[in-house]
Amino acid sequence: MFKIKALLTAYFQTGLTEKKHDDQNRRIFVVNLFSFVGMSITGAMSINAFLQSDLLLAWVLLVASLIYISSFLVQKKSQNLALATGFILYSLVLLMIYLVYSGGVNNTGPLWIFIIPPVALFMHGLKRGLIDNLIFVTAICFLMFFQQGELLITEYSFEFKTRLIYSYLTVTFLSSFYEYSRNRTFQYTLELSKKYESLAKLDPLTKLSNRRDALLLLEQEHSRQKRNPMDISLILCDVDNFKVINDTFGHNIGDEVLVKLSQCFQSLMREQDIVARWGGEEFLVILPETPIENADNLSKKLHQQIRGLAIVHEDHEIHVTVSMGISKLAPTQHIKDAINFADKYLYKAKANGRNQTVTMGDYGST
Ligand code: GH3
Ligand code: MG
Ligand code: MG
Repeated sequence: MFKIKALLTAYFQTGLTEKKHDDQNRRIFVVNLFSFVGMSITGAMSINAFLQSDLLLAWVLLVASLIYISSFLVQKKSQNLALATGFILYSLVLLMIYLVYSGGVNNTGPLWIFIIPPVALFMHGLKRGLIDNLIFVTAICFLMFFQQGELLITEYSFEFKTRLIYSYLTVTFLSSFYEYSRNRTFQYTLELSKKYESLAKLDPLTKLSNRRDALLLLEQEHSRQKRNPMDISLILCDVDNFKVINDTFGHNIGDEVLVKLSQCFQSLMREQDIVARWGGEEFLVILPETPIENADNLSKKLHQQIRGLAIVHEDHEIHVTVSMGISKLAPTQHIKDAINFADKYLYKAKANGRNQTVTMGDYGST
């Protein structure tokens, strides 16, 4: 029993990507589910038609059953979702047209056409799904009403045909409404989850990565470094005498200084570099693929840029300086130890009189 459940779960989840709540994943799941259900039902109906000696219907259903299983295989092998959904939907449309045309078993064939609205809307979304439905219902009307049904090989009463179309349109309307609401809820949830994801990663004041995100990103770089040896340098930077700025000009101006500094950091970074707000007035810069001497050069540029930074408050121009400690992260080292080293050098820079950098190894102060 458990084995069957595990097999079915594996089958339905074939091709799903890691982003489990992605809309694409939902469609892949629907293709897998539908190919399974479609294959089973048409397979069973085909056997039934064979037993009733309706050979043509039996063959048509058998082919449909094979098409459903091949849509699963297309999805699995090529991951071409458009092709897989096209396979399912258009083979289903052809099968329905055949059932209306022939009447199926004892004229019950047209009852199956109500599958089309939800499947088309599920697979192609609201707009294309509605167009698919419109084309289908037009084709069915043409088939049934053209010269009072001369195109059919069976006969339906006028009342049956009109009720069939009315109820088909009703089901299409309800399915469209459902798809519309589902999509809106999905988009809303997606936006909300993106918003909370970014809130959890970013520092609200500077919009830089926060400490938690910086550690996660550093762990990723560290794992990459273990696979592909490269230099990773770390700069820990602390604003000098920041308390004085707060005490003299107020907390808001202190905040403005932090924002200006973070912009200054970002303007000097390459795409792969990460600047994070490590604490109150402390920043951590992660520099992948960067030898420590290059990090030291970058710190010189930062000092220079910060020297030119002026925050105007009433008739004052506020200037700040920073101190930095630079260390490197080795593949075998603990991240915490490398940061502690940077902190140690930062402390040295403060002790040496501030507004300078102390770099691990031969690289002295700026
Ligand atoms: P040092 O040169 O030794 O680093 O001196 P400092 O005054 O910068 O260091 P200290 O640790 O004494 O003070 C840091 C101050 O930063 C104290 C705290 O109130 C302030 N601070 C921390 N976070 C924020 C913030 O988000 N906004 C503002 N405006 N101030 C902050
Ligand atoms: Mg400070
Ligand atoms: Mg500090």
